[in-house]
Amino acid sequence: MPAIPAWPPRSLPRLFVAAPLNATATVVLDAKQANYLANVLRLGVGGEALLFDGRSGEWFARVRELAKKRMILTVERQTRPIEQVPDLTLAFAPVKRAQLDWLVEKATELGVARLVPVITHRTVVERVKLDRLEAIAIEAAEQCGRTLLSEIGQPIALDRLLAERAPARTLYFADEQGGARLADAFAPGPAMILTGPEGGFTDEERTLIRATPGVRAISLGPRILRAETAALAAVAAWMALAGDWRSPGLALGQSPS
Ligand code: SAH
Repeated sequence: MPAIPAWPPRSLPRLFVAAPLNATATVVLDAKQANYLANVLRLGVGGEALLFDGRSGEWFARVRELAKKRMILTVERQTRPIEQVPDLTLAFAPVKRAQLDWLVEKATELGVARLVPVITHRTVVERVKLDRLEAIAIEAAEQCGRTLLSEIGQPIALDRLLAERAPARTLYFADEQGGARLADAFAPGPAMILTGPEGGFTDEERTLIRATPGVRAISLGPRILRAETAALAAVAAWMALAGDWRSPGLALGQSPS
């Protein structure tokens, strides 16, 4: 009988830590992370993990001490340098909680550098909990092998976003009423993708966006996508046409030797 491959493939636990890491760092994990490694993953003294701090790349570390609510690891060596992610900001109208969590998780996996919630006329979500979104982005980064966290910006009103935009950053406006083909529009360089809320942009907003210098309206095809689908589809297409999916990448998940 053929062996059933283990799924998920065995790999070292990967954790984000806020303290800066280096080749001789000692890291004290907080109670939550210690509990996860010790009680969920059953890591004891001598156990191995990968750590990253969002600044210095990724490091191989070993558990040195284990107490009730505390775990101390010592770094042994660097496994990867800090990565460069392409300069893509996703500016999106926040959606309801479950979809928003999903959006932040997936956008982080897809490799966006920055996420910015944009308040539009038809935005129905009143408050965006940034710390919650940051926690989701950290978890996604731990899981997908990022060494750099995606930044989460403060919510900003649409007109301010447009007024304060750096002109060198191309703004791709996902317009369900029509726009350029992605293959024609997307080009390498600093970029921002703007997607609207469930109810779409108002006509005034659409006029304002289209009148902003450096804006390119894009179409995501003949179907109306839900807000979170539109945002992620646009990011994936940008990564493939203008981002870092164009060059053959290293397979992640290979254990460091
Ligand atoms: N106004 C629409 C729904 C908006 S869809 C309606 O109710 O009929 C939410 C957002 O996703 C839009 O504002 C737009 O930014 C993006 N979007 C959805 N489908 C799209 C498409 N086919 N092309 C470009 N953008 C799209």
